[in-house]
Amino acid sequence: MSKFWNGRDAIAQVSLSVVLLVQAGSLMAQLPSFKIPGTKKKPDAKAGPQFPAWTVKPEWVKAHEQFLASDALAGRGSATRDEEIAATYVVSEFMQYGLTPAPGSQGFLQSIDVVAPTLDGKASLAAGGVVLTEGDDMQVLYSTGTSVSGSLQRIPASEVGKTKGKKDAVVVLTGAPLSGETLQGVIGTLFKEGVGFVLVPKSEATQKFFDQIGGKTRVPVKLKDDESAAHGTTLASVSEAAMKGLDTVREGAKVTLTIHAEIKPRQTFNAIGFLAGSDPSSGTILLTAHLDHLGVGAAVNGDAIYNGANDDAAGTTAVLELAHVLAAGPKLKRSILFVCYGSEESGELGSEYFGKHPPVPLKDLVANLEFEMIGNQDPKMPPGTLLLTGFDRSNLGSTLKEHGAKVGPDPYPEQHFFERSDNYQLALEGVVAHTAAGWGTPLTYHQPNDDLAHLDINFMTAAIQSLIDPLRWLATNEFKPAWFPGMQPKR
Ligand SMILES: [Zn+2]
Repeated sequence: MSKFWNGRDAIAQVSLSVVLLVQAGSLMAQLPSFKIPGTKKKPDAKAGPQFPAWTVKPEWVKAHEQFLASDALAGRGSATRDEEIAATYVVSEFMQYGLTPAPGSQGFLQSIDVVAPTLDGKASLAAGGVVLTEGDDMQVLYSTGTSVSGSLQRIPASEVGKTKGKKDAVVVLTGAPLSGETLQGVIGTLFKEGVGFVLVPKSEATQKFFDQIGGKTRVPVKLKDDESAAHGTTLASVSEAAMKGLDTVREGAKVTLTIHAEIKPRQTFNAIGFLAGSDPSSGTILLTAHLDHLGVGAAVNGDAIYNGANDDAAGTTAVLELAHVLAAGPKLKRSILFVCYGSEESGELGSEYFGKHPPVPLKDLVANLEFEMIGNQDPKMPPGTLLLTGFDRSNLGSTLKEHGAKVGPDPYPEQHFFERSDNYQLALEGVVAHTAAGWGTPLTYHQPNDDLAHLDINFMTAAIQSLIDPLRWLATNEFKPAWFPGMQPKR
């Protein structure tokens, strides 16, 4: 902590002088102007371009949402035709605003091969003489899309970490059902130890998790060129009654989970637009969001379409309207890449691929701002202010704030939002990358009612508007954001 204090102190001093300058400026503006004959205002060589006033209209914001979050797009599931339609819309808007394909690219759409098994039919589990069926007996939370088997190993939840899970084992967690955070920790430890299949007692926490992933088994979509695609982890929760049946099976007995899946070649889509700056040596700013969501899942109150109006049609809308304004004004010094990624919800695949195959060298990316869920005001943030994940990791947030951005530190560090969006894939590659978000944990999060009716269009409009001047400043400036020492995440 103390390491960063000096740096932040210096920033605080700069900030103060900026405030004084701004105050002096507004005082001048209030004074009546006198013309002194014979004097002409000298052009200020240092002043950047004069930007015309720009007002983001709520109807523009609503129009993007009206399409992207419509039932017609069926929730823009990762690596689906619906995602492709959403990406095609984004490309069409980019073209209308005057963006071009990224340098060296033929078009605006980056199509990426992925491995995405589609489950069909119920999974079943056989252990000793006991057979469990997906549904009442168990819920398969995670699956690689392939059947999995191993020998039964019981570990009390409280012993995980002390008693190691065997690599070829099917670990059955014993003891009372676990709460959310404990569950995450325990599962995380077992997966790190290389256990491929874990069975946990069904609990409120496992049910909540299942609901949040759309009430259906999460089958991670993987990049086709990802070596680890064939491996992975399976996680199932077992009802209390079914667990009693499993209790009768001897330790070391063979356990097999049979999954029915179809594997068809699929693609995910990144929409990429470029705005060339006047000085290629000054670097490129990367503004991003993700255009996919959860698609169609378990119905809640008769609604099975997970529209994702906030997550993340709202961020996509921000990228679109920022492209709109920045392409409309005078030429900027720095170039800007506008990217809406596919398959964020399946493990940040679009951004992972982009980070590994960037259209401009990563070292030329001066900063990445991702926009996520800016559809509602966060109750913990000051009115009109977005939270910026990993705020204290770099000087980007504080510097943008000095230039008028309404952003502040993320009040939910325990939620690890910094690691939970596309910015993270770029941060892992070294780019100073953060996510700006509205309410981090709204009630509609990953629910079918994350729809147009639950958006605060005026908040969204104001949030996008508030970023125009800070981004224009960043795009016409020399300032190169940097991680604070030791704060860049590593793989
Ligand atoms: Zn999201």
